[in-house]
Amino acid sequence: MSLSDIQSRLNTAANDAGRDPASIELIAVSKVQPNERVASVLGEGHRIFGENKVQEAQGKWPRFKETYTAVDLHLIGPLQSNKTRAAMELFDVIHSVDRPKLATSLARIAQEIGTCPDLFIQVNTGEEEQKAGCLPLEADGFIQDCRVMDLPVKGLMCIPPADETPSLHFALLAKIAERNGLSGLSMGMSSDFEQAIAFGATHIRVGSAIFGDRVYS
Ligand SMILES: *Cc1c(COP(=O)(O)O)cnc(C)c1O
Repeated sequence: MSLSDIQSRLNTAANDAGRDPASIELIAVSKVQPNERVASVLGEGHRIFGENKVQEAQGKWPRFKETYTAVDLHLIGPLQSNKTRAAMELFDVIHSVDRPKLATSLARIAQEIGTCPDLFIQVNTGEEEQKAGCLPLEADGFIQDCRVMDLPVKGLMCIPPADETPSLHFALLAKIAERNGLSGLSMGMSSDFEQAIAFGATHIRVGSAIFGDRVYS
């Protein structure tokens, strides 16, 4: 697999769903990948990247941003409240807003610095103990609370349970987004992004299918 293969599969899936491929952002998830692979995808002209850890991203993206202009960086992993400011300084979009304490912290710092990344609220659609995200039943209330705080909520994000049919989760996320008037849907990864597109994904997060397997040391 490579960037151009994934882009053409995105185009096909969008066309099959009667959607404009340009309405779907391909986030290249570069976590854990060696810098050479990331540089190579940057060299192909891609500019939208995702990382799941603030500290890891701080270690590599400031330098890439000096070399390559107009990088759009997305935080897709859980955010600890004590890293809120660092995340807001580095990332253009945060996909993992999932609890009142974090929302409060984002709102306070946004007031102070006068800007805020675009935000997605993560919903734990599978209600898994170990997974981040607000529960589906709490989502409407939490979205409302974030709006009251003036946070720029653009959409919802989910990571379906590994052992379940992802489409049920994509459909649930789309339903919650629709009834709350949110247009952004961050869903779909290497193994299921075409299904996610069929269910309305506006942001797909694809790592290994672009970069190859992640090698954890
Ligand atoms: C790692 C990760 C991805 C990408 O996973 P792949 O299976 O490599 O495409 C997508 N979303 C989140 C939240 C991740 O942490």
